[in-house]
Amino acid sequence: MKRDLRDLTHAETRAFAGELGVEPYRGDQIFRWVHGRRVDRVEAMTDLGKELRARVADAAEVRALAVDVEQVSKDGTRKLRLRTSDDRMIETVLIPDGDASAPDDDLDESESAAPAEPEHLQHALFPKRPKLTQCVSSQVGCALDCSFCATAKLGFGRQLTAGEIVDQVYRAQDIVSALGEDDPTRKAGADRVTNLVFMGMGEPLHNYKNVIRALEILTDPTGADFSRRRITVSTAGLVPGIEKLAAETATALRVNLAVSLNATTDEQRDVLMPINKKWNIARLLEAVRKFPLEKRRRVTFEYVLLDGVNDSDADAERLPKLLRGIPSKVNLIPWNPHELTDGTIPYRRPSDARVRAFQQALKARGLAVYVRRPRGDDIDAACGQLAAKAALPEKLVPLRTS
Ligand code: SAH
Repeated sequence: MKRDLRDLTHAETRAFAGELGVEPYRGDQIFRWVHGRRVDRVEAMTDLGKELRARVADAAEVRALAVDVEQVSKDGTRKLRLRTSDDRMIETVLIPDGDASAPDDDLDESESAAPAEPEHLQHALFPKRPKLTQCVSSQVGCALDCSFCATAKLGFGRQLTAGEIVDQVYRAQDIVSALGEDDPTRKAGADRVTNLVFMGMGEPLHNYKNVIRALEILTDPTGADFSRRRITVSTAGLVPGIEKLAAETATALRVNLAVSLNATTDEQRDVLMPINKKWNIARLLEAVRKFPLEKRRRVTFEYVLLDGVNDSDADAERLPKLLRGIPSKVNLIPWNPHELTDGTIPYRRPSDARVRAFQQALKARGLAVYVRRPRGDDIDAACGQLAAKAALPEKLVPLRTS
C-alpha cells in the first residue's frame, strides 16, 4: 500500500524525501503542498519537477476522507459524516459562536491571555471575534463504555490515523470556506475553523501516538498553522496518557487539557465510567495536579449532569473540595438524550432550574462554572450523541452527499 502523505509529520515527510534519494528540502516542499496549500494530487506539486513527481506518486498518495453526509442544525451547528478509505464512518461537528462574549457558551478553552485592563478598554482593544469550533474524532467508536454516551454503544472500531484526524479539519475548512454569507453556520460563526476540541468520537489518549502526530501536523507553521492555545484535548481520565502528555517537551504539544469528571464519588464514577475502576478520582486528580500549566491557563472539567444521579446538593458540595488547588473551570453539560441499542433511554436531563441551582451552588463555592448549551441536538450533534448512524433520521434530509 502506498504511503498517505497526509499522515506524515513535517519531519517524517523530510525523511520520506530521503527514502526517495532526494534532498530533505524536497520534503519541506511536499509538506507545504499537502498541509499548507492543501493539494490532493501529487501532479499539482509543480515545483517538484516532472520526474520527482512521478517518483513521489509511485510511492505515496494523498488519502482524503469522503464527505458522506452533511447536516445543518437550526442553530448553525454542522455535522459531517465522513467515510474513511476502508469504509468506516466517523463524525465531526462544527460549532459556530458569533457572540464570543457569551460566558455561558464556553467552548473556547483557550482565550485567557487578556491583559489586566478595565473591561471597557479590554473590549475596545481586543474586540471579540466570532469563532468556529470543530469537535474532532480520534477513533472509530470508543472502547471506554461510559454508560451515558452514545458513542460507547458502538464499541471500538479502530484507531484513526494521524492523517484521518487532520483530514477531518481539512474537509471542514473546505466546506466552511465555500459557504455563502447566508448560510446558518457562516452567519452564526467565523468563516474558518478557529478552534479544535478533541471531544468527538473516541478517547484521544487511547490513540496517543496518532493524536500527538496529528497535533504536530496541525500546528506546523508551514501547514495548517493552528495555535496550540486554540486546541483542547479531552480525556475520560487515562492517567498514563495525561502523564505522558505532561512529559512532552515539544512546545507545539502544550495544548489545553479537559477532563471528563462527571461524578464526585468513586462509587458513582465506577458505574458511569468503568475506566474509573482502573484510575479512580484520587489518582486522576493527582495526575491533573501535576500537569504543567502556563500562566493564566486552566484545566477544564466537564461534568455531564444526570438527573438524580450526580446533580445533588451533596455533589455540589464535594466537587469544589475535589478541585481545590487546581486552576480550573467547570463545564456543566446537561445530559443529551439518545437511545440505547435496545431502544430504551437510560437517563434524564435535569430541569433547567436544577441545572441553574447546581451552577449557582458551585459558583457560591468559588468555582468558575459554565453551562454548555446543547448545540445541534436536533441533528444528534451535541455532546455524547455522535454515533455515525448508518441511516439518517427521516425528518432530516442530507444537504449534500458524495
Ligand atoms: N473520550 C473523551 C473525549 C470525548 S468528549 C472524553 O471523555 O473526554 C465528550 C464529552 O461529552 C465528555 O465530556 C462526555 O462526558 C460528554 N458526554 C457523553 N455523553 C453525553 C451525553 N449523552 N450528554 C452530554 N454529554 C455527554
